[in-house]
Amino acid sequence: MGKRKSSKPPPKKVAPKVATAFTCPFCNHENAVVAKMDQLTGKGMVECTICGQRYTTIISHLSEPIDVYSDWIDACDKINRGDGR
Ligand SMILES: [Zn+2]
Repeated sequence: MGKRKSSKPPPKKVAPKVATAFTCPFCNHENAVVAKMDQLTGKGMVECTICGQRYTTIISHLSEPIDVYSDWIDACDKINRGDGR
Protein backbone atom coordinates (compact mmCIF):
# COMPACT_ATOMS: atom_id res chain seq x y z
CA MET A 1 0.00 0.00 0.00
CA GLY A 2 1.45 3.40 0.92
CA LYS A 3 4.24 3.81 -1.52
CA ARG A 4 6.27 6.57 -0.10
CA LYS A 5 8.25 8.57 -2.54
CA SER A 6 11.25 9.87 -0.77
CA SER A 7 13.43 12.52 -2.23
CA LYS A 8 16.19 10.06 -2.73
CA PRO A 9 18.55 10.75 -5.58
CA PRO A 10 18.76 8.03 -8.21
CA PRO A 11 21.26 5.33 -7.36
CA LYS A 12 24.72 5.92 -8.68
CA LYS A 13 25.95 3.36 -11.12
CA VAL A 14 29.26 2.84 -9.48
CA ALA A 15 28.94 -0.58 -7.95
CA PRO A 16 29.66 -3.34 -10.44
CA LYS A 17 27.43 -5.76 -8.59
CA VAL A 18 23.72 -6.18 -9.07
CA ALA A 19 21.47 -4.83 -6.39
CA THR A 20 21.30 -7.14 -3.44
CA ALA A 21 19.45 -4.90 -1.02
CA PHE A 22 15.70 -4.78 -1.04
CA THR A 23 12.77 -3.39 0.86
CA CYS A 24 11.57 -5.61 3.68
CA PRO A 25 7.96 -6.79 3.24
CA PHE A 26 7.59 -7.01 6.99
CA CYS A 27 9.01 -3.80 8.40
CA ASN A 28 9.12 -1.87 5.11
CA HIS A 29 12.63 -0.62 5.62
CA GLU A 30 14.29 0.17 2.35
CA ASN A 31 17.51 -1.67 1.56
CA ALA A 32 17.18 -3.61 4.79
CA VAL A 33 17.00 -6.99 3.10
CA VAL A 34 20.26 -8.52 2.02
CA ALA A 35 20.53 -11.55 -0.19
CA LYS A 36 23.10 -14.29 0.00
CA MET A 37 23.54 -16.65 -2.87
CA ASP A 38 25.25 -19.93 -2.22
CA GLN A 39 25.80 -21.61 -5.54
CA LEU A 40 27.63 -24.48 -3.87
CA THR A 41 24.61 -25.66 -1.91
CA GLY A 42 22.10 -24.25 -4.39
CA LYS A 43 20.40 -22.13 -1.81
CA GLY A 44 19.58 -18.49 -1.73
CA MET A 45 18.73 -16.60 1.41
CA VAL A 46 17.29 -13.20 2.00
CA GLU A 47 17.34 -11.67 5.43
CA CYS A 48 16.13 -8.41 6.85
CA THR A 49 18.84 -6.71 8.85
CA ILE A 50 16.24 -4.69 10.73
CA CYS A 51 13.56 -7.14 11.87
CA GLY A 52 15.43 -10.38 11.27
CA GLN A 53 12.87 -12.01 9.00
CA ARG A 54 14.48 -14.42 6.62
CA TYR A 55 13.63 -16.71 3.79
CA THR A 56 15.55 -19.46 2.11
CA THR A 57 14.84 -20.98 -1.25
CA ILE A 58 16.43 -23.22 -3.82
CA ILE A 59 18.32 -21.42 -6.53
CA SER A 60 19.87 -22.38 -9.80
CA HIS A 61 23.01 -21.04 -11.37
CA LEU A 62 20.80 -18.58 -13.22
CA SER A 63 19.14 -17.24 -10.11
CA GLU A 64 19.84 -13.76 -8.92
CA PRO A 65 19.21 -12.12 -5.58
CA ILE A 66 16.11 -10.46 -6.99
CA ASP A 67 14.70 -13.90 -7.79
CA VAL A 68 15.09 -15.03 -4.21
CA TYR A 69 13.53 -11.81 -3.04
CA SER A 70 10.63 -12.23 -5.47
CA ASP A 71 10.06 -15.74 -4.17
CA TRP A 72 9.91 -14.35 -0.67
CA ILE A 73 7.39 -11.73 -1.65
CA ASP A 74 5.29 -14.41 -3.35
CA ALA A 75 5.43 -16.56 -0.25
CA CYS A 76 4.40 -13.63 1.93
CA ASP A 77 1.55 -12.89 -0.45
CA LYS A 78 0.24 -16.42 -0.19
CA ILE A 79 0.39 -16.37 3.57
CA ASN A 80 -1.35 -13.02 3.64
CA ARG A 81 -4.11 -14.27 1.38
CA GLY A 82 -4.45 -17.45 3.36
CA ASP A 83 -4.13 -19.75 0.39
CA GLY A 84 -0.57 -20.73 1.04
CA ARG A 85 -1.49 -24.13 2.40
ZN1 LIG B 1 12.28 -6.16 8.12
